[in-house]
Amino acid sequence: MDLTRKDFLKMSGAGLGAGALVSLGFKLPAVAATEPLRVAKAKEVTGVCSFCAVGCGTLVSSHEEGDHLKVVNVEGNPDCAINFGTLCSKGAATIQKSYIDGELNPDRVTKPMYRAANSSSWEEISWDEAIKKIAQKVKETRDAAWIKEDDVIGPDGKPTGQKVLANRTEAIGSLGSAELSNEGAYLLQKVMRSLGVVYIEHHARL
Ligand code: SF4
Repeated sequence: MDLTRKDFLKMSGAGLGAGALVSLGFKLPAVAATEPLRVAKAKEVTGVCSFCAVGCGTLVSSHEEGDHLKVVNVEGNPDCAINFGTLCSKGAATIQKSYIDGELNPDRVTKPMYRAANSSSWEEISWDEAIKKIAQKVKETRDAAWIKEDDVIGPDGKPTGQKVLANRTEAIGSLGSAELSNEGAYLLQKVMRSLGVVYIEHHARL
């Protein structure tokens, strides 16, 4: 704000005048200029930050906008025993997953994308199609590279002729995500182990 000397004197005079009136016992109404709160009248739900496995608790506030809810604020949940209301810089920026400066984040991928072999472009496909494709690929790979039994190796390092049940595939690997919660990681293990996958890793170790 640019202030001329005249503006400054006017404002100072008004301030001094008000101060003098108060000191003489006149009661002036208190007027505060405030911005309306973003979370005013917002619907608040608890959430979990999905950026890493610490799983900090969040409070997510949203307003109804047309037929959907628009997230207007994400902050730490003071009642969560993991973070007691604090969030790291990633967690504090969670809202940007959906919105940048109040507008829907144009880079957010909300639908399954498929890039065909030898193609350089991605196409949008339905969840049904995506899940079917994944299931087909897993089944084909698992069937083609299924190890039913292993040889039992003797002390001389040579096969003894005995076999031991293996039931695994070494053709599929699982790369876990730091965004998984404990429960998500548990389920991922269960699914992978039940498929016979033994190469199960976490991206933080790579
Ligand atoms: S990214 Fe930060 S705020 Fe989010 S769960 Fe991890 S430590 Fe907590």
